[in-house]
Amino acid sequence: MSAELLRRTAELAVDFLDSLPDRPVMPRQHVAELREQLVVELPETGEDPSAVIEHLADVGGRAAVAMAGPRYFGFVIGGSLPAAVAADWLTSTWDQNAGLYVAGPAASVVEEAVGAWLIDLFGLPPTSGFGLVTGCQMAHFTCLAAARQSVLERVGWDPTTQGLFGAPEIQVVVGAEAHSTLHTALQYLGLGRDRVHVVPTDGEGRIELSGLAETLDAIPADAPLIVCLQAGNVNTGSFDPIRGAIEIVRRREGAWVHVDGAFGLWAAASPELVGLVDGIGEADSWATDAHKWLNVPYDSGLAFVADAAVHARAMAPPHAAYLEYGPEQERDEVSWVPEFSRRARGFTMYAALRTLGRRGVRDMIEGTCAIARRMAAGLAEADGVEILNEVVLNQVLVRFTPADGGDADAFTREVIRRVQEDGTLWLSGTSWHGMAAMRISVSNWSTTEADADASVEAILRCARG
Ligand SMILES: *Cc1c(COP(=O)(O)O)cnc(C)c1O
Repeated sequence: MSAELLRRTAELAVDFLDSLPDRPVMPRQHVAELREQLVVELPETGEDPSAVIEHLADVGGRAAVAMAGPRYFGFVIGGSLPAAVAADWLTSTWDQNAGLYVAGPAASVVEEAVGAWLIDLFGLPPTSGFGLVTGCQMAHFTCLAAARQSVLERVGWDPTTQGLFGAPEIQVVVGAEAHSTLHTALQYLGLGRDRVHVVPTDGEGRIELSGLAETLDAIPADAPLIVCLQAGNVNTGSFDPIRGAIEIVRRREGAWVHVDGAFGLWAAASPELVGLVDGIGEADSWATDAHKWLNVPYDSGLAFVADAAVHARAMAPPHAAYLEYGPEQERDEVSWVPEFSRRARGFTMYAALRTLGRRGVRDMIEGTCAIARRMAAGLAEADGVEILNEVVLNQVLVRFTPADGGDADAFTREVIRRVQEDGTLWLSGTSWHGMAAMRISVSNWSTTEADADASVEAILRCARG
């Protein structure tokens, strides 16, 4: 009975995956309709499992956004490689608790493999600590907890045992274009979302080195200091000048440099793009996502900390703070992440990385960037279309001016609305330097040149009215 249910479910899942390239990218269903179908009285006695799953697959499937499909260009999303989906099924089936080695030995060892591969691919210090977390927000949380630990230990304070009350004040520096999740991590860590020094950014969203130097000059020399840089601006894809910034910060002994590389860190895996992250290995911590550009299912992010000992001191629960795990010792995941019980999320990354290989990761990153450039070029050829950013990575910002020379902000928003309604592709808008802009992010392994061309055609059709 249960074997039959699970086989049937696999069939339903495969049918959904097969439909991805052709279904409207955004479902046309109203929230009221969905509630009507899904929010029922909790039954007194249980319903038939097959009936529940068939119903869920039908309603949930019809309402599912084709995010994993080839023409979803919204936010920075990514799809899921088939091997990663398959590994995700196994992960649920095995139902391991990946907090302790004894609760899932393979889960623990697979994370060791993934951590080592990525440290190598990204060019990070080989002895870095790492943790597999839910996403980049929690990766920031993990890295900045280690940062907080390090900068306070240097002034004789242990935030792990003493908390923050009475602690020397930590100064946090961020770029004006820092991602909101970085501020959220500061919020959770007691460092204050708004209590930051903000460094001005240039036209592409990169911090200005002169501004960074001036900001640091205004902070007392002995203050515990954390500086946050960005590799991959969520609008333009641009990178802070990382080597130059780290050189400036290193004039301050004990200062910590954290890098938000949610998607941009993956540039380090490409010889063509690695120049964009020049110097990145000199930082102290790095946060990234696997559910975006590595194309594994949610939820999957990674935190790396150069000083593994301080990483474990910040994260490990009481009595679990050992970190020597050699051939004879096991790695307990609880020492490296904020969670205790957790999903064995290493399996999907393991499957993705092994099936891609070094070459495949590189091809996927470079390929999506090439498609972004292709779309930018195709759009730029049309009258009244302007590309607002230097397309250095996989992000494109587009602005539309109406033929009568009218209000470009209103017209750009109208074109985005029409594209969303058209259904060929999905993307959203943003505001860039006070201007309305269409935002294209190419992050999906399955997007082809044909998808790119069909999408450009659909966008231009919508712009013509
Ligand atoms: C997506 C993103 C984040 C947040 O990542 P989550 O995985 O959604 O938590 C942080 N920074 C940047 C630059 C991003 O693009």
